[in-house]
Amino acid sequence: MKLYHRAIEVMPGGVNSPVRAFGSVGMEPVFFNYAKGPYVFDVDGKEYVDFVCSWGPMILGHGREDLIDKAKAYLDQGLTFGLPTEVEVEMAEYLTKATNTDMVRMVNSGTEATMSAIRLARGYTGRNKLIKFEGCYHGHSDALLVKSGSGTLTYKAPTSLGVPEEVIKDTIVCQYNKIEDVKEQIAANKDQIACVIIEPIAGNMGVVVPDQDFIQELRKVTEEAGIVLIFDEVITGFRTSFGSIAKDFGIEADLYCFGKIIGGGLPVGAFAGKREIMEKLSPTGGVYQAGTLSGNPLAMKMGLDVLHYLEDHQEIYDKLDKLASKLEAGFNKNLEISGVKGKVSRYKSMLSLFFGDFDQIKSYEDVKNADTETYKLYFKKMLERGYIVAPAQFEAIFLSDAHTEAMIDKFLADNLQVLKEIAGEK
Ligand SMILES: *Cc1c(COP(=O)(O)O)cnc(C)c1O
Repeated sequence: MKLYHRAIEVMPGGVNSPVRAFGSVGMEPVFFNYAKGPYVFDVDGKEYVDFVCSWGPMILGHGREDLIDKAKAYLDQGLTFGLPTEVEVEMAEYLTKATNTDMVRMVNSGTEATMSAIRLARGYTGRNKLIKFEGCYHGHSDALLVKSGSGTLTYKAPTSLGVPEEVIKDTIVCQYNKIEDVKEQIAANKDQIACVIIEPIAGNMGVVVPDQDFIQELRKVTEEAGIVLIFDEVITGFRTSFGSIAKDFGIEADLYCFGKIIGGGLPVGAFAGKREIMEKLSPTGGVYQAGTLSGNPLAMKMGLDVLHYLEDHQEIYDKLDKLASKLEAGFNKNLEISGVKGKVSRYKSMLSLFFGDFDQIKSYEDVKNADTETYKLYFKKMLERGYIVAPAQFEAIFLSDAHTEAMIDKFLADNLQVLKEIAGEK
């Protein structure tokens, strides 16, 4: 029996995370069982160049022998103790130094990191309300699963069943890149807003880049109002440069959330920030947070190995930036030649190809009408040619150190053929 048919009998949609079901591209999912370097292989042995990279963590490519050999040795030393370990201290020292923070708490996923950071911000300020931005994704905790009605911030609805309206009543949704929204909300909710959480480069509505002014103003207005600014860097952390992206903007957030890359391929999250805030966490403070597998030695050691490697090989960031810039130029050229309408949005190695007609790409308002039908065709045709890109329009392309220029050239040549076919079919 086909794997998919077995899968849907025993897992909702046949998957453990919705995007993998390929629903957004109108296909049945492909199942994979091996990965090496820039490639993933499906269960029938077909090879694909991987532009998903597990949504970010595999920044060094899959199955690097040096790292895997080390990991095998770690297995012999014990998997999890639920008791304090030396490597947790090492990770905490390393991560706080690399991200210019004072203290950190390790957790097991990005969702846990953002959820806990928000509780901490609320506990620290004694306020309940929070501001998030439409189109930003911060994991699947209740208070963050909110969408605002188009064009208006007054209408709010949970994006999921099972999220009571009471739980989101304190969640305020603003438009990305629109500082007036934030200022208005701060004025209307004086001394009630605990935190503002933002993806400093949005990656979960496809890549959307903040204006410098917007980010600078956001820091200023939150600071003035005693609001905790949380950078959700689960994607951006250690992706576009070593450490936090805040240094690109020349500002500091109050709390940062990390995940993806810092686990080296194992499930990890972390939130970090200023001592004064972090000390409010249990057991030193009254904000409760805990985790049986948090800081487990295997994930700490594998994560640290990847971080050390990145620190020692920071030329990787230039390489990824160059590859992404080549992709951007290539996509633009291919769009022009084929006549397919689209626009590339990029920050360093974070990049999305949006299909459709756009004046600008600055917010969810701008991208929400992207041409998902064309994306479906593009995804399917690229897949047939041996490339796996994100199985959804509103995601990014992820590159790794294992990708080569020649691979990008070949990808772009195939992409041109695909876009020409799409243009012919329309
Ligand atoms: C992936 C992601 C999360 C959620 O992390 P999980 O490990 O999937 O729970 C949170 N925030 C951002 C910005 C993400 O990209």
